[in-house]
Amino acid sequence: MPRPCHWHEEPDGTRTLIPGCAARAHDPDAECTCPSTASQLAFLRAELDAVRRDYRRFRRWHHCLLDALRTHPDGPAIYATAQKGHRR
Ligand SMILES: [Zn+2]
Repeated sequence: MPRPCHWHEEPDGTRTLIPGCAARAHDPDAECTCPSTASQLAFLRAELDAVRRDYRRFRRWHHCLLDALRTHPDGPAIYATAQKGHRR
C-alpha cells in the first residue's frame, strides 16, 4: 500500500506535497483519493495477521526440522553446516 498524500517540510519551512494517489499526482490541488485512515488500518491489520500466521507456520516447521536433525545420525554435522551458511 503506497503512503497516502502527505507534506514534506524542509528545515527552512518549505512544504512539498508528496502525492499518494493518482488524482493529486496529476493535480496537486485535486481532491485526495487516498484510502481513509480506517481502511488503511484495516488493510495493515490484515497484513499483520497474515505475517503472524506465516511466522507461526514457520516456527512449527523449524521445530519439526530441529527434531528431525536431533534424531538423525548426521544431524549435528548438518546443523553446523547450516549455521555456517546462516552466518554468512
Ligand atoms: Zn491522496
